[in-house]
Amino acid sequence: MNQVRVRIAPSPTGDPHVGTAYIALFNLIFAHHFKGKFILRIEDTDQTRSRPEYEKNIIDALHWCNIEWDEGPDVGGPHAPYRQSERTEIYRKHAYELIERGHAYKCFCTAEELAEMRELAAKQGKRVGYDRRHRNLSPQEIKEREAAGQPYVIRLKVPLSGECIYEDAIKGRTTAPWADIDDQVLLKSDGFPTYHLANVVDDRLMQISHVIRGDEWMSSTPKHILLYESFGWKPPIFMHMPLLLGKDGKKLSKRKNPTSIFYFRDSGYLPEALINFLTLMGYSMPNDREIYTLDEIVRDFDPKRIGTSGAFFDIQKLNWVNQKKIIETISEQSLWDRLVEWRFNEGFMRKLMPLVHTRIKTFADFMQLCDFFFINDLKHTPELLCGKHSSPEAMSCMLQAIIWSLDEQEDWSGAALEKASHEVAESFGVHHKKVLIPALFATIMGKLQGPPLYDSVTLLGKDRTRVRLMQAIESLGSISNKKMDLLKKCWEKKNCRELVAQSS
Ligand code: GLU
Repeated sequence: MNQVRVRIAPSPTGDPHVGTAYIALFNLIFAHHFKGKFILRIEDTDQTRSRPEYEKNIIDALHWCNIEWDEGPDVGGPHAPYRQSERTEIYRKHAYELIERGHAYKCFCTAEELAEMRELAAKQGKRVGYDRRHRNLSPQEIKEREAAGQPYVIRLKVPLSGECIYEDAIKGRTTAPWADIDDQVLLKSDGFPTYHLANVVDDRLMQISHVIRGDEWMSSTPKHILLYESFGWKPPIFMHMPLLLGKDGKKLSKRKNPTSIFYFRDSGYLPEALINFLTLMGYSMPNDREIYTLDEIVRDFDPKRIGTSGAFFDIQKLNWVNQKKIIETISEQSLWDRLVEWRFNEGFMRKLMPLVHTRIKTFADFMQLCDFFFINDLKHTPELLCGKHSSPEAMSCMLQAIIWSLDEQEDWSGAALEKASHEVAESFGVHHKKVLIPALFATIMGKLQGPPLYDSVTLLGKDRTRVRLMQAIESLGSISNKKMDLLKKCWEKKNCRELVAQSS
């Protein structure tokens, strides 16, 4: 085998997801086992959704998991820059090269024209939305449109018939009919590349030998293979990992599950347990061993032992792994050090003092008052959450709206929760102080009184706050998909009064 070079290519568009750590781990294990290199590349070409703080969070979260890379935006390397927004000129050049080679073309369609085409295609039950009307424009026409200053994108010429066939090193022989694939946009009219172009060009230039990624990307792979062929390059080996699944058997989503790596850090899990658990999701060690170190899996790694179907992300199992790790790898003496590192440290405790100062009669009251910072499972009963003034159905909708409001604000601080709670009270037509405030105390603290709510939320942190809201909703009986759609529509108009009236 030539030198193994693998990469993860996360997009910094949200909280650092356990799925990123899961895929990173298999890339790292593969690289270390085969004495290769592991690269971190940041795919931040989606200008509207990418944020530098999300990139920082990805890097911090992976470091917390003890995942290190050989090349990346923070450590440099021979193929720098490793951030796609700093490489746009490279992609542009390659897009035009494909036009020269006859594999791509300029498309001048307007957004309205494209919307019409999509609508028509949907009516006719076609899988391809764009009717390829500019695929064969004459050179003269292209010149005229350009001279008139019409903006254009560059599209890939996808074969009109036949199949893409490739050998996935995990899933085996994979086929996809070309007729189902649109002529992909490679370069947008603002000169920015799409994921497909940037991803393939970078994997080539960074000499990636194996693309190990989640199987949600399998639908992109034929487009990537076609791009390699159009450039006259040999594609890397593709290995699509089984997805992490939620309890419902669907892709693990943050709407229903704790997914942020920081949630697990802040909730008192060991990074070594989280990574052991994550590798267990996609891999089986000989003799079905379940507790092992990263070094052990690197040493014994065999790609044939990677699973082919999705793995349930089962928190009970993670709790079990975590306990095993505590017992087997942390001595009694060092247990205290680990607890100190987690929450029982000067920095955190000092932040708590202003919240507690006027609220304790004796020091012994401290723990009772602040227990919710140190425990994960709160007693969320419908009685506690709803009080006298609300029903479980209405309350679950209000708490869901709180989540949306905080997401919209892109701020999960106490100040943002204050704003969210007023917004929600207003849009549901309920009394802020009588209905929402007790419900939020119950959600965050598992009790109706405690330290100041908003300051507590700031200290508890975004990820644990989100999960508490989700747990409270679940204990109220969850929200059906149909109801969720309806709620979303009402929430967009910030008027949910009718919805609540219907359900109560
Ligand atoms: N930017 C993609 C992501 O967000 C990369 C997928 C791939 O590995 O090709 O995961």
